[in-house]
Amino acid sequence: MKREFSFWEREEWLKSPDLLVVGAGIVGASAALFYKEKNPDHDVIVVDKGFAPEGASTRNAGFACVGSVSEHLADLEIAGEETVMNRIERRWNGLKRLKSTMGEEAIGYESVGGHEIFTDDQLFEQCRNKVNWLNQKLAEKIGEAEVYSVKEFEGYPAIFNRLEGAINSGLLMRSLHQKLAEAGVRVLWNSKVSSVEPNRVEFEEGVVLTPKKILSAVNGFTSNIIDKPIQPARGFVIVTEPIEDFKWRGTFHHDRGYVYFRNVGDRLLLGGARNLAKEEETTDQFGVNPKIKEYLYGFANDVLKLPSNWKVDIEWSGIMGMTENKEPILEQVESGLFVAAGLSGMGIAVGMEVASQAVNLIEND
Ligand SMILES: Cc1cc2nc3c(=O)[nH]c(=O)nc-3n(C[C@H](O)[C@H](O)[C@H](O)COP(=O)(O)OP(=O)(O)OC[C@H]3O[C@@H](n4cnc5c(N)ncnc54)[C@H](O)[C@@H]3O)c2cc1C
Repeated sequence: MKREFSFWEREEWLKSPDLLVVGAGIVGASAALFYKEKNPDHDVIVVDKGFAPEGASTRNAGFACVGSVSEHLADLEIAGEETVMNRIERRWNGLKRLKSTMGEEAIGYESVGGHEIFTDDQLFEQCRNKVNWLNQKLAEKIGEAEVYSVKEFEGYPAIFNRLEGAINSGLLMRSLHQKLAEAGVRVLWNSKVSSVEPNRVEFEEGVVLTPKKILSAVNGFTSNIIDKPIQPARGFVIVTEPIEDFKWRGTFHHDRGYVYFRNVGDRLLLGGARNLAKEEETTDQFGVNPKIKEYLYGFANDVLKLPSNWKVDIEWSGIMGMTENKEPILEQVESGLFVAAGLSGMGIAVGMEVASQAVNLIEND
């Protein structure tokens, strides 16, 4: 049944805005905030299909990082040196923008440093041999010396990244939405968009708005409304009950960034291993893959050597948006219609940078 609206709803709530952003994750919410700060008289609305952001921004692992050595080496093979160095710079600038926009307290930032731990001697040797080269490149690119250093952690060969930190992703998104409210940006939840075209956004219930400009920031869900080469990729995460004498404190990477873990207080957060079932995990449906779950439980027992009585408190999945070379898609699709998506698993780091670039595009239209 087509929904009916009152005069008041039509005149005040369904008035078409100057900018409508689809997607209330870190990219959409930040873009709306930056745009409103520059254009305080414009009416800006963010819409989201969930009752809260329901993609990756509140379902991630909370690593504020520029990447591990084995991840960079794998990326160098796919994308080449210039792209990878520019990406590291973008991640670094994005993290600085995140901290300066929000303040460290509002995102629960902890400057803990990050270790990549190795169980494969050959991979460790390859990475160790590249540490000096990478350090030199990073010093030139982002002005930070000796970022990576070879260490040992809990008996494993490791490479430490002194720039890495951890955040509280839930707090970040709550604080960001608080800023949106203070700036006068309206957010409409439970509002699933079924199609977008210049000056026209249609919702599942049949409601149509005619905004002057539209930004699609739905990341892993992009291909449902705009035809762009972004693949959904599901990621799985568990958080344990508190563990006595818990040793793995800080942030940790393993196996080219595919496996990641950190402490949250005395708990372990562990996730990833999507590479074990890449095809099955190319989906925008939330859910648990038993193969991945079994691997991660085994990793907690055999590699992290948790005490035998450890228990999972909560587990969940989130949906990322991947591009072929991991570069985000940031473009004007048609007059008045823009897309910022394909954060490729790095949205905490690059999300606000991408959002700010999207606002520049929108303003130059
Ligand atoms: C398990 C996991 C772990 C991760 N860990 C990290 C990490 O440690 N560090 C890091 O930097 N990055 C990490 N990421 C990636 C990071 O979370 C994402 O890159 C980032 O959150 C993407 O933000 P976004 O705003 O582009 O997309 P999202 O946060 O996915 O936001 C898109 C929004 O669009 C909404 N939406 C979708 N379709 C529609 C529609 N048709 N109509 C209306 N609304 C719609 C969704 O509900 C969603 O809220 C992780 C991701 C996952 C899944």
